[in-house]
Amino acid sequence: RRKKMVERVTALMSNPEMIRNIGIVAHIDHGKTTLSDNLLAGAGMISKELAGRQLFMDSDEEEQARGITIDSANVSMVHEYNGKEYLINLIDTPGHVDFGGDVTRAMRAVDGAVVVIDAVEGTMPQTETVLRQALKEHVKPVLFINKVDRLINELQVDAQEMQIRLGKLIDHVNKLIKGMNEERYNAGWRVDAAEGTVAFGSALYNWAISVPMMQKTGVSFQQVFDYCRAEDMKSLAEKCPLHEAVNDMVIRFLPTPIVAQADRVNVIWHGDKESKIGKAMLSADATADLAFMVTDISMDPHAGEVATGRLFSGSLTRGMEVYVSGASKKNRIQQVGVFMGPERLEVENIPAGNIAAVTGLRDAIVGSTVTTLDGMEAFESITHASEPVVTVAVEAKHMKDLPKLVEVLRQVAKEDPTLKITLNEETGEHLMAGMGELHLEVIAHRIERDKGVEITTTPPLVVYRETIRGTAGPVEGKSPNRHNRFYVTVEPLEEGVRELIRNGEISMRMPEVERREKLIAAGMDKDEAKGIADIFESNIYVDVTKGIQYLNETMELVLEGFQEVMKAGPLSREPCMGVKVKLTDAKLHEDAVHRGPAQVIPASRQGIQAAMLMADDTLLEPHQKVFIQVPQDQMGGAAKEIQGRRGVIINMTSEGDMTIIESKAPVSELFGFAGDIRSATEGRAMWSTEFAGFDTLPANMTTEVVSGIRERKGLKKELPQASDYLSM
Ligand code: GDP
Repeated sequence: RRKKMVERVTALMSNPEMIRNIGIVAHIDHGKTTLSDNLLAGAGMISKELAGRQLFMDSDEEEQARGITIDSANVSMVHEYNGKEYLINLIDTPGHVDFGGDVTRAMRAVDGAVVVIDAVEGTMPQTETVLRQALKEHVKPVLFINKVDRLINELQVDAQEMQIRLGKLIDHVNKLIKGMNEERYNAGWRVDAAEGTVAFGSALYNWAISVPMMQKTGVSFQQVFDYCRAEDMKSLAEKCPLHEAVNDMVIRFLPTPIVAQADRVNVIWHGDKESKIGKAMLSADATADLAFMVTDISMDPHAGEVATGRLFSGSLTRGMEVYVSGASKKNRIQQVGVFMGPERLEVENIPAGNIAAVTGLRDAIVGSTVTTLDGMEAFESITHASEPVVTVAVEAKHMKDLPKLVEVLRQVAKEDPTLKITLNEETGEHLMAGMGELHLEVIAHRIERDKGVEITTTPPLVVYRETIRGTAGPVEGKSPNRHNRFYVTVEPLEEGVRELIRNGEISMRMPEVERREKLIAAGMDKDEAKGIADIFESNIYVDVTKGIQYLNETMELVLEGFQEVMKAGPLSREPCMGVKVKLTDAKLHEDAVHRGPAQVIPASRQGIQAAMLMADDTLLEPHQKVFIQVPQDQMGGAAKEIQGRRGVIINMTSEGDMTIIESKAPVSELFGFAGDIRSATEGRAMWSTEFAGFDTLPANMTTEVVSGIRERKGLKKELPQASDYLSM
């Protein structure tokens, strides 16, 4: 039977008309795992008895123990629609907010998304985040409204009330789509029950219905309601099986790889669309050069590193020699495979339009472009919704494990690109920065359990950002030999430009003209927009000089100095954010020997460091939104927990006897929140957090926080002055 399944899958793989690449996205607990399991069971990929119970997609023990999905795993399933077989490649996405980064990369691989929403709770913060990520990648949404049984049996709504509630929810989702991407909305991307882009049902009880499904089965809305009220879920599941309603919707309304790539390639690749490779990707041409983008890397105990990704053009075969973006030597592909459940099946060949898993790509990281075309323009990098804001220092418990720890840290960073590992040169510690306390706890467990290295970690610390509130300069930065001088001014980057960077809408890779137009539209001066020399994280280096000899050939070193400062600002060595550095003049030695790295990098660096300290350099601290769902009588205790942490309550709504508190608090105050809210509410609060950006640190705290950071980093405790950075 298994052999037959493999044959069916491989046959379908080479016919893009018959393929759908999709992801299921949802707020935590809205039923993504239950839905995935039951879809797989429906397609005969796992036994019906096990579905729902074994949390199939959560292949990691850690995830099962915590009941959350962390890594993206992939499965393929075959579904029959209108007498024809189709292949649905399903990429799993994490439901927990602390791991938002993974959703973004999964979205790069797929063309469509099933957005799952709990009928009782409605859209939640994470629903919005994942929907926004999907639309940004031009991934088309359809809607599955889950837990409809609760509406009827817990909230006791009648058929009419139920219809009104579902209608409201659909309207709300459309409003979100319109607000997030009006261009796609106008192109017809909205969800519509009458059309069939909405299904609703109960993943737990294995039934779902949509308007086309009502027509197909003859079961009416009222009948669905009656079965549910009578708690006869079994009959309903027989008449309206979940997988049929959902997969029919996927096949009918989500695009084929060919249709999707004709649009999506314009968003994720900025090379020449008229070139051979451009045309090949736009049409998913399996006979052209290979263009593969890596969206996930995982460790397989037997096969080693497995790189999963989307194949946009060409075909993958064993033994192929490929270029990996950023690597100097070619890599050789060893195994080529597709996923079926937790298994990876080796196949001979995978053509364009599919999601594939390969081994042998030694140099690949998440986001790598893999190609057979020398010098191919790389894919646009994947931008993450949240940034690392919490860090811990990691040490091996036993000295002898140190070399192993270094290797393991390299591995976990490769597997999870939202994790940043750095070595603190001053103290020799390894620092691990992630998106939240829980994120780092999970990684620490993984290091100990999967990788077998016992470690100790320090309590979590906040990662701040440095920024400037004023303007300063021109300030002169001199090289140690005094023969090279750079004059820079610094100022806060325009808010509109920050927004462009945050949304990944501008990069150094895109065509210069396109970038310039976007910057000018966002409020940047024309001459400055023309002189963009570098965009690093959320900082920009602008060169507004004219006709300075040797500057071109020195620029790379100048920018190296710039990047060093942006990685570690002058005030506290925390990363910089929202800084615009403008080069207004430069003097360079005519002999290249006297303007090497040891001269130019420090000159460039010191000018920027001094200028920033003159421009009201200050710290920004990360905040998180905190959503708490709590019974009415425990509300006071929950609200106090937030208010006692420099937090603010933004909104409160009630649903039945539950109150939903929407609030915001600094990350630094939220450590230990899990335990405290549990005791404050007798364990009856459910809560989740979401990254909420950076805000200025209260003025009366700055000195203390900065000194604390400096001391920890082995720097002198006193706040630095501009003169400290200027060589006399
Ligand atoms: P995920 O976090 O989005 O993957 O959510 P899960 O699939 O783990 O589901 C969260 C909880 O909701 C579990 O306890 C499920 O049993 C329950 N659940 C899922 N679907 C339904 C449903 O249709 N009706 C009801 N009543 N509960 C459901």
